[in-house]
Amino acid sequence: MKTEPILNILSLEDSDTDYEIIREQLIEAGLKINLSRVQTETEFVAAIRNNKYDLILADFSLPQFDAFGALSLCRKICPKVPFICVSGRIGEETAIELIKAGAVDYVLKDRLKKLPFSVTRALAEAKVKEALIRAEIVLNESEQSYRTLADSGNTLIWTTDTNKFFNYFNLVWLEYTGWPMKHELDDAWAKVVHPDDLPHCLNTYNEAFDKREKFSMEYRIKRRDGEYRWFIDEGCPRFDSEGEFIGYIGHCIDNTDRKLAELELVRAKEKAEESDHLKTAFLHNISHEIRTPMNSIIGFSELINDPDLLSEKRNEYTGMIVQNCNQLLSIITDIVSIATIEAGQEKILEKEMDLNETLSQLYRQFLLKVKNQNLSLVLSPFKPENEEIILTDKTKLVQILSNLIDNALKFTLHGYVNFGYSIVGSEIEFFVKDTGIGIPEELDEEIFKRFRQVETTTTRQFGGSGLGLTISKAYTELLGGRMWLDSQLGKGTTIYFTIPYKKVEEMVFPELKLIQEPVFKINGTKTVLIAEDEDTNFFLLEELLSGLNIRIIRALNGAEAVDICRLTHNVDLVLMDIKMPVMDGFTATKLIREFKSDLPIIAQTAYSDERDRQKALAMGCSDYISKPFKRTMIVSKIMEHLG
Ligand code: ADP
Repeated sequence: MKTEPILNILSLEDSDTDYEIIREQLIEAGLKINLSRVQTETEFVAAIRNNKYDLILADFSLPQFDAFGALSLCRKICPKVPFICVSGRIGEETAIELIKAGAVDYVLKDRLKKLPFSVTRALAEAKVKEALIRAEIVLNESEQSYRTLADSGNTLIWTTDTNKFFNYFNLVWLEYTGWPMKHELDDAWAKVVHPDDLPHCLNTYNEAFDKREKFSMEYRIKRRDGEYRWFIDEGCPRFDSEGEFIGYIGHCIDNTDRKLAELELVRAKEKAEESDHLKTAFLHNISHEIRTPMNSIIGFSELINDPDLLSEKRNEYTGMIVQNCNQLLSIITDIVSIATIEAGQEKILEKEMDLNETLSQLYRQFLLKVKNQNLSLVLSPFKPENEEIILTDKTKLVQILSNLIDNALKFTLHGYVNFGYSIVGSEIEFFVKDTGIGIPEELDEEIFKRFRQVETTTTRQFGGSGLGLTISKAYTELLGGRMWLDSQLGKGTTIYFTIPYKKVEEMVFPELKLIQEPVFKINGTKTVLIAEDEDTNFFLLEELLSGLNIRIIRALNGAEAVDICRLTHNVDLVLMDIKMPVMDGFTATKLIREFKSDLPIIAQTAYSDERDRQKALAMGCSDYISKPFKRTMIVSKIMEHLG
């Protein structure tokens, strides 16, 4: 059984009688007390300083002290101990003053019977007060530990009121955004959300809030340095102990790495799908682009066989065949170029070149092409007008310009095509401008990607493989420049590109050779060894060289060629194919050089790269021609070497 604790009570009382009555009243009421008495201020101070009381009873007036003084000392020294004033008559106002100053009650001496009740009530109230204070402390401690928990770690935490306005952000949030709490409160949250994500966020938040439901959303929040990072924000409604809705609480977790990886995956997938789509379109186009000239070549080749064909017609047909072959060749060259670019094998060979002369040549060449078109071709005047000698890869520069002019002419039905250049700082800026069909704005950058064409349907009006711009841009970048375009649908396109301006003060001109019209006549019969494994190529060469007083011997591979040269003393020249079975042309040439150093050997190959030419010369060949052969070219080379 629980025993009642003994109450430690201090009485400030100068009257012995009153003190006794007080004691009796308390004991009579059944209170277990330990009552001590003091009569002066000094005794009072000493008592409250040195003891722990449950209650203080103070007389209102003492000779040199009073209840107000005692109360004020209590507030300072033992503020939690309840203080009751026991007095003779005091006015109501004084009583109110005493209560205001902190006394819990007052009891008149002529009504001391009321004292035990007042004491019991004061003690009960003190107990409640203490319990409240303790609860508050516990609450504060608990809140403090929650705040510490909220502020440590990487999670951004927020709460709102019942009107959707934010009323708290944890330190992690404030440090992340770099804004003080007062900036973030209310609806300033929206200011740090990425504008693209905001509509979706507001929708999700408002909808869930109105239904008091949980929500989860992913969006970007602006960091103090301006960078947006991805977060998953999960919010849920909060209710107090009565079940009353008090707002929302939510936490945001940085999800950037996963999100970026996810976006990268999506992008890679889209790219793969697009690439797949482009490749299909490319195969479709390429098949069309190859079949079209092939169709003409095969068709006209058959027609040419007609023995009754008039010679005019025969000339026209052969012209068509040659033209279509050239078209076929340019498609193959494009495909090879793309393959070399993508393999990182394309190299730059810089040489001195006359820029103005090169542009004039291009102009003359394309002028022949536009003869039958309803178009003007304009070459802008050169600035400066004098000779402009620069260092660059001429072959690549000419190919870029040719591709762009070709496109301009292809996509322009009337108006003009204008090209030229200007010197801008340390760069030469070229342009090819047309008044053609234009390119939609959204394809400004896309169009430079391989196989990309504006027309994607099968009813395409314009031919092409979709590789020209890709190659031109890649070449421009290899030369150290940039390419971009400016276009308006229906009005025209200007494609710009730059290359570094490397001016050469003086050009070293190669020794001038007198170019003579080839005289296809040979004095005395000459023997030419053709090392060629392919029958058709051999027959073509045989045909091209017919009527030239040339005796032809054939070797089917490099090893045979070496043997023939070793055994036959009258071989005057060798046309050496490079790619052959048993032994290739390079090896054969090297072996022949061991015993015949001055025999002219002309390499003939289907590879058309400058490096192949150089390799052929380095392996000991006297000269180099690339397939497909032109009669004038092959005959003049042979003439040149046969003296
Ligand atoms: P191709 O001309 O063989 O299709 P390109 O890579 O040279 O390939 O060009 C890709 C696409 O860019 C063309 O199919 C065309 O849609 C567009 N294009 C290029 N140049 C022009 C131009 N001058 N005017 C309008 N469209 C052009």
